[in-house]
Amino acid sequence: MPAGALANLSPAGAPLLVRYDLPAARSQADRDAVERGARSLWRYAPLLPLRDPRNLVTLGEGLTPLLETPRLGERIGSRNLLIKDESANPTGTFKARGMAVAVSMAKELGARKLAAPSAGNAAGALAAYAARAGLEAHLFLPVDVPRANAIECEAMGAHVTLVDGLISDCGRIVAERRESEGWFEVSTLKEPYRIEGKKTMGFELAEQLGWRVPDAIFYPTGGGVGLIGMWKAFAELEEMGWIGSKRPRMIAVQASGCAPIVRAWEAGEIESRHWENASTVASGLRVPKALGDFLVLEALRQSRGTALSIDDQETLDAGLLLAESEGLFVAPEGATCVAAARRLLRDGFLSRDDELLIYNTGTGLKYLEAWETRCTPRTTARERLGGLIVPR
Ligand SMILES: *Cc1c(COP(=O)(O)O)cnc(C)c1O
Repeated sequence: MPAGALANLSPAGAPLLVRYDLPAARSQADRDAVERGARSLWRYAPLLPLRDPRNLVTLGEGLTPLLETPRLGERIGSRNLLIKDESANPTGTFKARGMAVAVSMAKELGARKLAAPSAGNAAGALAAYAARAGLEAHLFLPVDVPRANAIECEAMGAHVTLVDGLISDCGRIVAERRESEGWFEVSTLKEPYRIEGKKTMGFELAEQLGWRVPDAIFYPTGGGVGLIGMWKAFAELEEMGWIGSKRPRMIAVQASGCAPIVRAWEAGEIESRHWENASTVASGLRVPKALGDFLVLEALRQSRGTALSIDDQETLDAGLLLAESEGLFVAPEGATCVAAARRLLRDGFLSRDDELLIYNTGTGLKYLEAWETRCTPRTTARERLGGLIVPR
């Protein structure tokens, strides 16, 4: 498919991936220029699809902190544990990366009305970038989505529909109505540019480590876009001559209540089957069947990685351990990775000296319903303030 026109899936119904003229990019761009570039993911512009910078839609996404977390590391058996904290992105999750690039491209290619199904955070990010670009957003969310997601979308002027079902049901509605409504569909992997935004997680990680990669990456996997994106990013960086041939072991972490990729991995299959009755507090992982599952499984195999699932109670425990050890109040999705790292260190799949990188994909503040079940304050305001409250 040629670049430069709005596109969804390939004629065969598969996700489209953007290819660049890397030899040309290699002769024009260099690592030092990147390091002096924009304080956002747009510093990687030579490896992004946007052609005219006037179409750029930005809220300052990317360039999030890479943190050493020795106190947590000690508690779970690692001497070398890092967390990439994506909660610092606009809208509080890494979905901002994908939507910044997808909405910029939609604007460049002339779309006016954007539509997407979402488990929650993608909708929040699309609402924000559509508002920023002056485009319409039509969003379909499961009715039991975290409240923060529905509220932020409303606040940003999106057309929000809550659906009595899962993200797959929401996706069906968008697919059925898009033609008659004139919507451009921005569903995960059904357009080629969200993944280009998410791949910048891989660029950034390599840059922040001094142009090298860690031994293993833990990624909370729903649609798997970030994992596929990073895998693509490392290949591009190697072709640019910016990193070597070493690759991290890619570890896909899912929730026990929705783990189609783990099930496929354990059965040695090349794609997953629809997961029935998907349910988890890590709402971003509630994806019963991912369009790019085969690409995730391939990256796991090629990198000698693995896939494992964590139940919600263990996830919340791990999130609280992280919060009190390091001061990071994270999304349950990120917390699954803490539990996964602990398990693989115990099993001996990874060793305490391996350099491990956990993606925290969002802020805990968007998941108050989940955390409230564990963190109800024990003291009243009056007791806490020692009588400082003036009686009415
Ligand atoms: C969407 C989402 C995920 C899963 O991302 P994929 O790249 O689609 O696998 C993980 N965490 C959070 C917070 C999310 O919003």
